[in-house]
Amino acid sequence: MKLHIGFDDTDSLKGGCTTYLASCLIELLYKLKFVRFLDYPNLVRLNPNIPWKTRGNGAVCLRLEIPEWAYLEVRERVVGFVERSFRGEAETNPGIVFLKGDVSEQVKGFSFEALWRVVSLSRALRLIRVVGGEAYGFNNCRGIIGALAACGETLEDDYTFEVIAYRTRRFWGKPRKIDPESVLRMDRETYPQTFNNLDPETGRILIMPRGPDPVLFGVRGETVEAVLKALKMVSVDEPIERWTVFRTNHGTDNHLRCRCRVAEVKPHMAVVVEGWVSKPPKTIPGRHVIFSVSDGTGEIFCAAYEPTGELRKVVKGLVVGDRVRVYGGLRKAKPRTPKTINLEKIEVLELTRKVELKNPLCPRCGKRMVSMGKGKGFRCEKCGFRDSKAKKVEVEVPRSLKEGLYLPPPRSHRHLTKPIQRYGMEKHGWNFEEPKVFWGRSLADLPF
Ligand SMILES: [Zn+2]
Repeated sequence: MKLHIGFDDTDSLKGGCTTYLASCLIELLYKLKFVRFLDYPNLVRLNPNIPWKTRGNGAVCLRLEIPEWAYLEVRERVVGFVERSFRGEAETNPGIVFLKGDVSEQVKGFSFEALWRVVSLSRALRLIRVVGGEAYGFNNCRGIIGALAACGETLEDDYTFEVIAYRTRRFWGKPRKIDPESVLRMDRETYPQTFNNLDPETGRILIMPRGPDPVLFGVRGETVEAVLKALKMVSVDEPIERWTVFRTNHGTDNHLRCRCRVAEVKPHMAVVVEGWVSKPPKTIPGRHVIFSVSDGTGEIFCAAYEPTGELRKVVKGLVVGDRVRVYGGLRKAKPRTPKTINLEKIEVLELTRKVELKNPLCPRCGKRMVSMGKGKGFRCEKCGFRDSKAKKVEVEVPRSLKEGLYLPPPRSHRHLTKPIQRYGMEKHGWNFEEPKVFWGRSLADLPF
């Protein structure tokens, strides 16, 4: 019998993390002789614009083959395990979902929506009932939404892998000591099969989180072999408690699949909107750049915030009339700010002609003339020619901005942001191969 176990929101603010819990749970299940893993653990990032999300809004699904008689035992073990690790903390709202058999189209559809909009708990619960699944929730039970969505995102279109190395408990909360040279070397030797190891602009190491969570570092890449090679190459000054390879939607733009008209966009959605620049870019306090886009159904503000770095330069080069496609999350209107698309990337589709009004050229000697006062015409300073009827003329200004796709630097990418080098490397289709090696307690377990 196929069994999909989804869980979400098991990470507390004090530490802990859904993927760590998954990794421990994998070990527990792996030791049960009757459990067979049908896929790598799936780590699914959901709509990043949900304000009540946990840090990365990531949920996990384990896909197993078990004998039917073992269902109750597996369920009890999983629920008990989550319950014990969560210890009733008030800030977390864990949810666990069990689905038997193949994942239905309805559940897949639910996940599709959970990636770019707000979905309700009551809808999740209704659907679980309809498909004959079971759900367990704690506190406000919101984790059930993500748990179901993780079950439904079977990662059959584009996907990537991430290997995560975890710290032993006594190091949790302490600064991480990673040899930066080893990360540079790993990046050089595994690129482009791994991605977002470093930020090229600042040299910052991106594989290492900063919080108190048990994650020591994580490397993202195209294949299991690539991320395991990277895992071996990174040298750290502390023991690795365990490691796990997840199949994920990281770096796939999985959330940016919904083309919307301006009139349809709602708060917290991740949207793609095509239109014309209708208000010129303007730098606002905090060094953010805003402009407006209109598509005939309405006009909406777009913002390139300070952390988007060079993307702001691109945005500053836009002029009214340029045709663009903007991608990003919708920030709700607040009393002093209108609703705004928080730019994650932009495609400049068509540049308009940029014209400036300039003084006319002297018909006699070709020099640009100077004004003799408003409405009084122009005169030439070089040869003395005067023309009281001359008017300013339109002059086309060359555009420095080029048509094309622009992304922020890797340091401000979201988990889901597709890095520029992955364009053209997308995978399509997954044949549900049984994973060979995907977790271990030490690097000695590594097959390569
Ligand atoms: Zn002249």
